[in-house]
Amino acid sequence: MDKKSSLDYFAEQKLASIEQRGLRRVLDITSRGQAGAATRREKRLISFCCNDYLGLSQDPKVRKAAADAIMTFGTGAGASRLVTGNHPLYAALEKSLSDIKRSDSAVVFGSGYLANLGAIPVFAGPEDLCLCDVLAHASMHAGLRASGSKVEYFLHNDLENCRQKLLEKRASFKKCLILTEGVFSMDGDRAPLRGLCDLAEEFEAWLFVDDAHGLGVLGDGAGSVAAAGLQKRAHLQMGTLSKSVGSYGGFLSGSSPVIDLLVNRARSLIYETGLPPAAVAASIAALDIIRTDKDRVSRPLRLARDFAEGLGLPEAQSAIVPLILGSPEAALHASFELQKEGFLVAAIRPPTVPVGTARLRFTFCANHLDEDVSGLIEAIRRLDLVK
Ligand SMILES: *Cc1c(COP(=O)(O)O)cnc(C)c1O
Repeated sequence: MDKKSSLDYFAEQKLASIEQRGLRRVLDITSRGQAGAATRREKRLISFCCNDYLGLSQDPKVRKAAADAIMTFGTGAGASRLVTGNHPLYAALEKSLSDIKRSDSAVVFGSGYLANLGAIPVFAGPEDLCLCDVLAHASMHAGLRASGSKVEYFLHNDLENCRQKLLEKRASFKKCLILTEGVFSMDGDRAPLRGLCDLAEEFEAWLFVDDAHGLGVLGDGAGSVAAAGLQKRAHLQMGTLSKSVGSYGGFLSGSSPVIDLLVNRARSLIYETGLPPAAVAASIAALDIIRTDKDRVSRPLRLARDFAEGLGLPEAQSAIVPLILGSPEAALHASFELQKEGFLVAAIRPPTVPVGTARLRFTFCANHLDEDVSGLIEAIRRLDLVK
């Protein structure tokens, strides 16, 4: 075969182009420890870019629950949940999730990504309209694409723009889904959920909220929908067990018929092996802590607010604080300089964020020490990163 038609040549050309734009990514080996500690290339750093907001992935009770589950149930689920993979821990986890969400029911998927990918096509198809915030997570885009529905994006958090699109388009479609994140993963701001609920009611649409970054952090741990007092009005809440819960998996919560329909129709649930028992057991133990340890739950938001205030940034609305620097090179350079100061903060670049908005994304966790947060503020000042 001609060299230029080889697969390797194709990959090398693609990589060269990615590299040239400052967008090449690598998998850096990182081991994580207590209090935000992370070791990378033999350097001990304090990480401000984990989503383990409550430090539960390192919690002794959570670890023990996972280890016990391995000894009781083994390491794998052995089959999809609808065959023999629905081990006894699943029911306890789904009960715990519907308790914390105050919903009738909940269903656990293999991950948050798979939950969005599988759930959205269950509620919207080719004759339907989906209106989605333009900054929504890649997994929602994947679900929207898989649904085959007509997809329109409204400007970020812009109720007027969403309303305009509903006025123009709603009447030509059967069903309509409005999709947003509760807390935006790369910006840390919250969606105007009350306004979106109002629009959903006015235009006979259903509201789908991806609350990956709200669970465990906002609304006493119940998430951004609860924080806004809207549990009875948001139709579908999606969440992940991989962030504040410190384990792995994703879920949808909602009414019993809605959840039963997902079990019957969501392809990413039906055709996928169940989660390992250890992951499910860890989530159950972690949710117990989220329900009872209010001090731990309130700390990430408090630290994020202290940090933003210390640097004169807008008030933090979640555990995530972005510092937008513009070019990928500027973000990489800032990340590199902070690493020299002992802090691990990943540079976030396109296509994860829009072109021209490459940034540092800081996340705050309950187990960060106050002095590490003040040390971080000092380092950022020294490096003159806030313009
Ligand atoms: C992380 C994330 C997901 C995916 O969740 P995983 O459990 O990591 O697959 C989905 N939506 C948003 C907004 C996220 O930040």
